[in-house]
Amino acid sequence: MAGVTLDTVRKIYAGNVEAVKGVSLGIEDGSFCVLVGPSGCGKSTLLRMIAGLETISGGEVKIGDRVVNQMEPADRDIAMVFQNYALYPHMSVYDNMAYGLKNRKTPKDEIDRRVKEAARILAIESFLARKPRQLSGGQRQRVAMGRAIVRKPQVFLFDEPLSNLDAKLRVQMRVEIKRLQRALGVTSIYVTHDQVEAMTLSDKLVVMSGGQIEQVGSPAEVYRRP
Ligand code: ADP
Ligand code: ADP
Repeated sequence: MAGVTLDTVRKIYAGNVEAVKGVSLGIEDGSFCVLVGPSGCGKSTLLRMIAGLETISGGEVKIGDRVVNQMEPADRDIAMVFQNYALYPHMSVYDNMAYGLKNRKTPKDEIDRRVKEAARILAIESFLARKPRQLSGGQRQRVAMGRAIVRKPQVFLFDEPLSNLDAKLRVQMRVEIKRLQRALGVTSIYVTHDQVEAMTLSDKLVVMSGGQIEQVGSPAEVYRRP
């Protein structure tokens, strides 16, 4: 397992848009960190830089004690869960979950063991042969999480994973994500604009505004009223 350290991380997009303005932050090994803030404040950009999906304009990103600035996403030991699930529509649930491991030349019996274990944890064992379109939104989101779990990454990255779900399911999945993170103990960074989600999920809450950190602390510290 590994913590994540950001040191004055910056992102300047073409056209001189400074989306992230020197963010420094330490995320402890095994903890759950939520980045919260209004649309456009730079939280998704920051997450994507940690994932390696966006280049870094300045500063340093460390996963454990490795500086990952120049590393490909596949070499960073992270797994990301997206809002739109990003499942392959023509593949079965099983193959969707196995895909990343197959690409890494993981032995077939090991893939099989990991997929079935993740399916059991997420209660999707009976859907393994289905295609994504044969699943409900909540089931799809579980498959997306299963695909992250089977990789056994050092870090989970979540980009508004529940925002396509209805309110009831959102609450249910929130509880499941928290339970799963506790059980697996994987360092997690979660982006949302939903304050209730942020408050209930986080060990460390990071409030962003205009590309910078506005406040950081436990949910109780951040939401304490004067
Ligand atoms: P959030 O996730 O908090 O909604 P984003 O990280 O998506 O914020 O965006 C931060 C800022 O960077 C916004 O002003 C947005 O318009 C800008 N931005 C995001 N992606 C790009 C891009 N690919 N090119 C130029 N500007 C971008
Ligand atoms: P191949 O790559 O030879 O076509 P598959 O990927 O279809 O083989 O399956 C390989 C292994 O994955 C099988 O032995 C089986 O254990 C497991 N598997 C594949 N699909 C499912 C499924 N729907 N439910 C449970 N296990 C499956």
